[in-house]
Amino acid sequence: MDSCIFCKIISGEIPSTKVYEDEYAYAFKDLNPQAPVHVLVVPKRHVKNLTEASKLSDNESAGFLRAVENTARLLGLDEGGYRVIMNAGENGAQTVMHLHAHILGGAKLSEKMA
Ligand code: 5GP
Ligand code: ZN
Repeated sequence: MDSCIFCKIISGEIPSTKVYEDEYAYAFKDLNPQAPVHVLVVPKRHVKNLTEASKLSDNESAGFLRAVENTARLLGLDEGGYRVIMNAGENGAQTVMHLHAHILGGAKLSEKMA
């Protein structure tokens, strides 16, 4: 997807602070952090959001999920815990149309989800 900013981040065309990368996924620091630790994990294949996740192969889906786990561990969040959010579509307030998981941690987060 030529116009997608997250595809450009994956390709290196737009700079980012990389946290983790493997065959299936790329993780980088969010530009506008909402918690002491705020990292985005994206599948390398462009799909819009979770409503298109079935366009990913089983390996790509599993790789994406595993990358979230690996990234959280690398960030040292596995002991204390963390939150994962995936916004989808207009009501979900999704602003970048490339599937991504927000990993939020480093502090006790609000019990409210929205
Ligand atoms: P959404 O609201 O779509 O779930 O989240 C998109 C996220 O991408 C936002 O938290 C926003 O701060 C982040 N973001 C948008 N553009 C960039 C960028 O160019 N670089 C980085 N690192 N994060 C971005
Ligand atoms: Zn994309």
